[in-house]
Amino acid sequence: MSIEEILVISEIPVAVTRKQIKNLHLAVYPPTGRVTVSAPEQMPISAVRIAVVTRLAWVKRQRKEISLAPRQSIREMTDGESHYFLGRRYRMRVVERSGPTRISTRGKATLVLEAREDASISAKLNALDHWYRERLGEVVPPLLEEWSQRLELDGITWRTRRMRTRWATINVKSGIVTVNPEIAKQSLESIESVLVHELMHIFEPNHGEGFIRRLDMHLPDWRARKSKLDSAMLSCEDWKV
Ligand SMILES: [Zn+2]
Repeated sequence: MSIEEILVISEIPVAVTRKQIKNLHLAVYPPTGRVTVSAPEQMPISAVRIAVVTRLAWVKRQRKEISLAPRQSIREMTDGESHYFLGRRYRMRVVERSGPTRISTRGKATLVLEAREDASISAKLNALDHWYRERLGEVVPPLLEEWSQRLELDGITWRTRRMRTRWATINVKSGIVTVNPEIAKQSLESIESVLVHELMHIFEPNHGEGFIRRLDMHLPDWRARKSKLDSAMLSCEDWKV
């Protein structure tokens, strides 16, 4: 998919991709409320803008739902909450204990939060964020190493940074892959496909034919992995042009 243009409508960035399609397709994705439009190739950008503007109330409603739904439960960091790690759902178990706030897994479905009785929610959230980043530190380097070898790349490094609208980006000059810690919630296959996607940009800056050809060659099931990643999508809508 190649993003050709970013429209900013009512302060909301809208990524416009051109495709050989008859109908405009608008989607709002969690976790950040990223808005994308697939538009027919010949449709003037002004018409795309108008189409989005007419659906603006819907877009705002979706973004509001996304911003409220997951955060409300996470914000509380209480017993029984659902949290995701590597595509699996974990139930949070809160254990009141003196000492530092920390997170660990118990079995394959329990996330244990140890915290003092008076620990603040933000201290608990920080502990969870730290835990996700640590886990990524175990998951990402072996994948990057494996794919560096396969693609004969040298000097690839990585870091984590929260981003509003992306799972990852790459600086092709420095070889630094920046990974959104949110991705720790997705499956290993999804994480791998995101990393491979970024590494491909070292060979192909855009998402053109060459890019797709390389992905098809190295990761033949990338479409299925991508649609799995996208299936976290809360809602989308099609309408006639
Ligand atoms: Zn890309």
